[in-house]
Amino acid sequence: MNFSGLGMTSPRARQRLVKRLQQMGVSDPRVLEVMRDTPRHLFLDEALASRAYEDTALPIGSGQTLSQPFVVARMTEVLLLDGVPDKVLEIGTGSGYQTAVLAQLVPHVYSVERISRLLDQARERLRELGLHNVRLKYADGHEGWPRYAPFDAIIVTAAAAQIPPELLQQLAVGGRLVAPVGPAYSQQLEVYERRTSGIKHYSLGGVSFVPLLEGLD
Ligand code: SAH
Repeated sequence: MNFSGLGMTSPRARQRLVKRLQQMGVSDPRVLEVMRDTPRHLFLDEALASRAYEDTALPIGSGQTLSQPFVVARMTEVLLLDGVPDKVLEIGTGSGYQTAVLAQLVPHVYSVERISRLLDQARERLRELGLHNVRLKYADGHEGWPRYAPFDAIIVTAAAAQIPPELLQQLAVGGRLVAPVGPAYSQQLEVYERRTSGIKHYSLGGVSFVPLLEGLD
């Protein structure tokens, strides 16, 4: 996607960020290219925009955060391991940055958010970027999105003590779910793969996400 003309400032800062992601072990060229080209500063308040290309989580209001670029890259890369999934469900739209990254890599993105202010802002940003292959829903992500299930991939960007069972049920055979699991601010990034023979599960290491909350804000 070419986003030039949308205030694509600091190309050098973005190039540095991609270099850092590579040094940290992100190797999928598709993910690196999209992260180089996606204007992360447009997903932040102006006061924070100058920090947009640091590899750090940043506040987006309502006590929520835009995830650290390394974590966005890592989770995205995992979803693309066996080729491009057709339909991806995201729980926790937040700023819409992870949504925008996904929308440039897969045909169909579905994303659910429980804070309407964040969802409205994300909708506007995705529209401005011309990313039209995204459907957004104001709902509690614990329920997934039954109407469009099953999904070839599911990404949860807020942490639960356990994966909501509805999400695993909405994962297609051959599909993969990635989610932070554990107590507030100290979780393991867990991967679940649905096989015909059952669910395979492994862990990718420590992460720190805001909690997956119950109900609507
Ligand atoms: N992917 C986002 C990360 C935002 S932080 C980004 O790139 O900006 C996690 C988000 O999950 C927050 O916006 C929070 O409101 C949302 N969230 C928490 N619990 C939720 C739930 N049960 N259903 C839907 N969204 C939820």
